[in-house]
Amino acid sequence: MTTTWTIDGVRAALSEKKISARELSAEFYKRIEARNPELNAFLALAPERARKQADKIDALIASGKPLPALAGVPIAVKDVISTRGIVTTCGSRILQNYVPPYDATAIERLDAAGAIILGKTNCDEFAMGSSNENSAYGAVKNPASTDRVPGGSSGGSAAAVAAGLAVAALGTDTGGSIRQPGSFCGVPAMMGSYGRVSRYGLIAFASSLDRIGPFATNIKDIAAMLGVIAGRDPHDSTSTTAPVPDYQNEIVKPVKGLRLGVPKEYFGEGMDAPVRQKIEAGLEIYKKLGCELVDIRMPHTDYAIATYYIIATAEASSNLARYDGVRFGLRVDSDSLLAMYRKTRGSGFGDEVKRRIVLGTYVLSAGYYDAYYLKGQKVRALIAKDFRDAFEKVDAIVTPTSPVPAFRLGERSQNPLQMYLADIYTVTGSLAGVPGISVPCGKVCGKLPVGLQIFGTPFDEARVLQLAYAFEQAGGASV
Ligand code: GLN
Repeated sequence: MTTTWTIDGVRAALSEKKISARELSAEFYKRIEARNPELNAFLALAPERARKQADKIDALIASGKPLPALAGVPIAVKDVISTRGIVTTCGSRILQNYVPPYDATAIERLDAAGAIILGKTNCDEFAMGSSNENSAYGAVKNPASTDRVPGGSSGGSAAAVAAGLAVAALGTDTGGSIRQPGSFCGVPAMMGSYGRVSRYGLIAFASSLDRIGPFATNIKDIAAMLGVIAGRDPHDSTSTTAPVPDYQNEIVKPVKGLRLGVPKEYFGEGMDAPVRQKIEAGLEIYKKLGCELVDIRMPHTDYAIATYYIIATAEASSNLARYDGVRFGLRVDSDSLLAMYRKTRGSGFGDEVKRRIVLGTYVLSAGYYDAYYLKGQKVRALIAKDFRDAFEKVDAIVTPTSPVPAFRLGERSQNPLQMYLADIYTVTGSLAGVPGISVPCGKVCGKLPVGLQIFGTPFDEARVLQLAYAFEQAGGASV
């Protein structure tokens, strides 16, 4: 068994000089070397950048000055987030040699807080997928059971944290890509409200939905990570000016008396019976903690998948127009400009990305715009209203993260529709802009993790974290 490092553990070991930041990151690279050939969680490592940062932290320790929040904490970053000097592929051939000239704001903030960026993690191409099988660089294996998918699209980040190859990681969530892999791999995983974390430097999939958020091994670390990356950024006009509370202080508040909505629509057809059992056991924990469970209805839930796949593909078709062989990444030379575009995009993008560009272009095209895109926007507003109405009655909403545990590699990859259904419980919160977390809630078949999802009101991540922390402390991971 390898030790599970936590942020507090790193801080204590460093300040008591039991280990140096340089030694600690070297230990993580050793773990990666041993496990990554099998898991395929990392696409690129950044040992030089890590060493420089570790030496800075070690110098700080030697000087006796106070240490920043994430001093020396080894972190993995999903490969759709820009990192200066480190190849950033988005899991795509079209960006196979792309090296960003700048760091995303979230990376800058991690860096300033003393975190050590170990490298970049595998993901579905341009974050489009639910299994990590859409990566141009091969699937990631689930550390809990290596014949299974880790979930997606942030599968590499979830697997890296679950396997102890990083203390925490950044992922991105557009329709479930943080929460669903968190649930499949058995680690807490959080998406803050839309606008809570700057998207500057996040390579866009669907700009009105994309969010950056953390994976960690425990809720306290999730709170620490979110506290560092959250907050207004002048580079992203959609980032909020809402103040960032001290999440560490907030999480320990008692949850007694809180009202938790349990929407009937999230326990429907297609849900595995053993998963349902675990979620019900999880709800019992909240009862014991003194929360009141309230049956609620969210009547537009059924339309969420269709709405998401109209809006997300529409935005993707526009965002991905920039990969034309001229400005970024791959270029396949040809005798005419049009042929160059065709060949570059034809060979640079994988099947799922092409499918989405075609779908998105279709729903935006003249004659279909009103029938699909515009209608999708209207239904999105209704789904957001479902959440607003629910929050009139309850303090938070509790659901399963996924109707099924991690499925087998290859089991759904030939059936896009079945793959899209993997997101049935996560896309709603994405469309509504609310914060959501997945917390471990027992295992089925003796080894496959289940995730419990908690949604809160916009910008009240503190409440979500508070409920997640209480659940974790009450033994939710082993119900
Ligand atoms: N699985 C969903 C999709 O394929 C969500 C992806 C995401 O959140 N990035 O679009």
